[in-house]
Amino acid sequence: MLEVHEIPVTPFQQNATLWVCRETGEALVCDAGDAGPILAKIEALGVTVGKIIATHGHIDHVAGTAELKRALGVEFWFPPGDDGWLQAMPKQAMSFGLPVPEIPVYEHEIHEGQAMELGKVKLEVFHCPGHTPGHVVFHQPEQRVLIAGDILFAGSIGRTDFPGGSFEELERSIQDKLYVLPGDTVVHCGHGPVTEIGREARSNPFVRAKV
Ligand SMILES: [Zn+2]
Repeated sequence: MLEVHEIPVTPFQQNATLWVCRETGEALVCDAGDAGPILAKIEALGVTVGKIIATHGHIDHVAGTAELKRALGVEFWFPPGDDGWLQAMPKQAMSFGLPVPEIPVYEHEIHEGQAMELGKVKLEVFHCPGHTPGHVVFHQPEQRVLIAGDILFAGSIGRTDFPGGSFEELERSIQDKLYVLPGDTVVHCGHGPVTEIGREARSNPFVRAKV
């Protein structure tokens, strides 16, 4: 049984997530934008984190990764299609007037078709380009849970005006990979409240389901 805890971090209120396998107590961190609040949550829950992963390379999703890796002594999994964004983190920081974080090294790549394993739980990986070229999302089919990063939000979608972004690609990612999931799939978004696939497929004003 997968448990997902959201932890809003950074001035962008990015929802880092702490995933826990209820049976084994094993945990992982997804989108470690800032180490401090995530470490506090890990301590409060008393779980053991085995890895850090990321949906994409934007600064609010990865800036705390190097520090968190050191604190926890774990390895980092990252979609290589976003390596350009990861290496450009100092430039991203300067453009937002933020302190320049250390660029984390990733030991493992994340690709579509892989199974992301956590204790007794397995999540599918889908490549969903459009917000960034390498963006991935994670889907747990039995529990109907999706960790969507910056692809789909409640009543909104990820920005496509950054370098490497494309509205057409994002629309295709959402229609072909997300709206085809069961309507009651709970969506944890990179920003803002949780939503459900069915609600967005019916009423999202930016990307409608294909008829
Ligand atoms: Zn982003």
